Amino acid sequence: MGFTLVAPERPEEACEILASAAPGQVAVLAGGTDLLLDLDSGRSHPDRVLSLRRLPWRSLQWNGPTLTIGSTLPLSEIEVDPVVRARIPGLWDAIHGVGSLQLRHRATLGGNLGRASPTSDLIPMLLALDASVEIVGVQGIRSVPVDEFVLASRSTALRVGELIASISIPEARPSAYVWQRVRPSNDISQVGVAVARASRAPFWRVALGGVTPRPVRLPEAERELRAERPLTPEVVRAAEAAATHAPFATDKRATETYRRQLVGVLVRRAIAMVSAPLDRPVGWA
Ligand SMILES: Cc1cc2nc3c(=O)[nH]c(=O)nc-3n(C[C@H](O)[C@H](O)[C@H](O)COP(=O)(O)OP(=O)(O)OC[C@H]3O[C@@H](n4cnc5c(N)ncnc54)[C@H](O)[C@@H]3O)c2cc1C
Repeated sequence: MGFTLVAPERPEEACEILASAAPGQVAVLAGGTDLLLDLDSGRSHPDRVLSLRRLPWRSLQWNGPTLTIGSTLPLSEIEVDPVVRARIPGLWDAIHGVGSLQLRHRATLGGNLGRASPTSDLIPMLLALDASVEIVGVQGIRSVPVDEFVLASRSTALRVGELIASISIPEARPSAYVWQRVRPSNDISQVGVAVARASRAPFWRVALGGVTPRPVRLPEAERELRAERPLTPEVVRAAEAAATHAPFATDKRATETYRRQLVGVLVRRAIAMVSAPLDRPVGWA
């Protein structure tokens, strides 16, 4: 079935188009790497497709310690930014692992959050960085922590007539993202683990994707890594064990048992990358 493509230049106009439409009538298009599959399969059959490409959201800005990334900036443009790579290596790891370079030329951070996939590689890292989502809508502007924004697969805190304008990361953090897939590219992660070290208590952040209905923080593992304890092998083992308490699922990509083992290994590996970076760039703002 055909549809009309609309590409407004002003965010207010885009929100108005969404607010005045019936549910499902308008589909939002950023890079289209998720949406085009939905159009092709018939899961989505809108009358209009609202393209975000002319909106002023393709930006990347540091404001003191805070990094703000426009929702429609292609992932490849974040990936080639040397400052992002040096100051938030885990974000670079997560982005670099998405699909292929061709895909990253189109895919966006806003689209990844908008799809809210349980197997997203970017949401766990955003959780570990305490990122928040800046939302614009017909009612105005608001900011929501990523942990409260992603509700379930394909379900977010966006209300009718709202769009993601940008994503804010409050500070640069020593960080790492590690994943396991059957194939290294253009495949979905069986497990993804994000670890970051914040400048303030509780210091360590550990987040998990691919195994639960939505990516989640792992507070029990974070508690084992509390800053006043030296990072001994026993502490890392305790964090690794605590991480395996999350609810796991068996699906066509991996069994629960395999995922549980993987999480332990990946948590240990990510902690080592953050705490002993060697040739990895690190730094707080
Ligand atoms: C071959 C292939 C490999 C992939 N590999 C990976 C991978 O390794 N890791 C991974 O995490 N993902 C992967 N993906 C999924 C996908 O590429 C990402 O989720 C991507 O970031 C989506 O961004 P997009 O701009 O293309 O989103 P789009 O397809 O344009 O949009 C996706 C959804 O988000 C909504 N949306 C988009 N932008 C906004 C906005 N600004 N405000 C509100 N809602 C919005 C849209 O309504 C739509 O429902 C892969 C996809 C394919 C096809």
